[in-house]
Amino acid sequence: MRLLGVLPSDDVLQQCIHCGMCLAVCPTYEMTKNERSSPRGRIKLIKSVARGEMQITKLFVEEMNFCLDCQACETACPAGVKYGSMVEAARVEVDNTSYRSWFYRFVKKFLLRTIVGSRSKLKLVSKLLRIYQNSFIRKMLHKSGVMKIIFTNLEEIDKLSPTVSEKFSDEIIPEITMPKGEVKYKTAFLSGCLMNVMFAEINKDTVEVLQACNCEVFTPKNQICCGSLQAHNGDFETAKNLAKHTIDVFSSYQFDYMVANSAGCGAFMKEYGHILSDDVKYAERARNFSRRVKDITEFLTETDVPLKLKSMAESITYHDACHLAHTQKITEQPRKILKAIPGVSYNELEEASWCCGSAGIYNIVHYKDSMVILERKMENIRKTHSKVVVTGNPGCLAQLRYGAQRFGVEVEVMHPISLIRKTI
Ligand code: SF4
Ligand code: SF4
Repeated sequence: MRLLGVLPSDDVLQQCIHCGMCLAVCPTYEMTKNERSSPRGRIKLIKSVARGEMQITKLFVEEMNFCLDCQACETACPAGVKYGSMVEAARVEVDNTSYRSWFYRFVKKFLLRTIVGSRSKLKLVSKLLRIYQNSFIRKMLHKSGVMKIIFTNLEEIDKLSPTVSEKFSDEIIPEITMPKGEVKYKTAFLSGCLMNVMFAEINKDTVEVLQACNCEVFTPKNQICCGSLQAHNGDFETAKNLAKHTIDVFSSYQFDYMVANSAGCGAFMKEYGHILSDDVKYAERARNFSRRVKDITEFLTETDVPLKLKSMAESITYHDACHLAHTQKITEQPRKILKAIPGVSYNELEEASWCCGSAGIYNIVHYKDSMVILERKMENIRKTHSKVVVTGNPGCLAQLRYGAQRFGVEVEVMHPISLIRKTI
């Protein structure tokens, strides 16, 4: 059970037996070889704060933010330490101090809470961003180098931002999509926040694959955001409100499965039952909701839907999104589908479950560290000689696309469902 938002009790913190098995899989320890930047070191710091032996210092704040929250350490830990919930709880504590940078506060309070937390505002900002992205002003700003004067990494952050979709998915996906044949399953689909405005084609591909698998698909237009970005950045109040809204919105429809195509969203919706367990009105509904959440690759491989795949001559590799591999323990399902496509040559990626450095807003607030991690990932991708790298999370998609450009790797970056859509 995860302990979102509350510093863990002493017996939970004592679960760490200091074996160090997690050190080898931790990207921040690998970068620094500094014990305090390892999972074990951070647990020790959190323990000291939770016991009142240490005040929250600038160093503590930096360490909690330096962590990617990739949860690779959880997968490696023989003692079952739930590190992710510890660091997320520590970030909530940190938020109440004055050590947060203005930039972080801007991203968290303005972008994540006010903009991402409202579908209409996010759509408005995205429309403005789309005008900017298609304009000559962007090219001029990049050419002149003026962005670097305003903020050192602003130009690079601008380049790694995903392109806003020509049409948002709530403009191209109907609320109810019926299959051609008899309905096998009734599914609900989270079109999400950033997925809705920046990855609309992937959402459309998802609905079309579900439809081809004889599923009825409910995609409500008044959904907003599942709350995962806010929760991972220490804003649990906003995250809980968004979770309740999501449960309410989907409650008007009787569905067998709640399907997600974003690793972070799927992982967080599976936590609703826990994070709302103290809420009298929502606890039971949240548990019931979470039980039915499935990642799209999980849904396609674990149910008996008729998925017929046509041949495709493609050389592909697969990058595990952290929230799929480490949080949801979904590693076999996407590989199973990709390998089942006739004609595909599948190349396993070295360190496939090593974070790509995207990690929510990590590549914005820790741009330089994120690039060190990304370079390692891109070199591993290059070594596979694959034409396509597949990954199931929007953050990873944007990061790898940027990485391919920045580090000169000739590879197309795709979501697994878009590849599957091409073969049905
Ligand atoms: S979550 Fe990732 S970056 Fe953070 S301590 Fe664990 S392995 Fe290291
Ligand atoms: S692997 Fe688990 S028990 Fe061992 S040091 Fe890391 S967190 Fe602690």
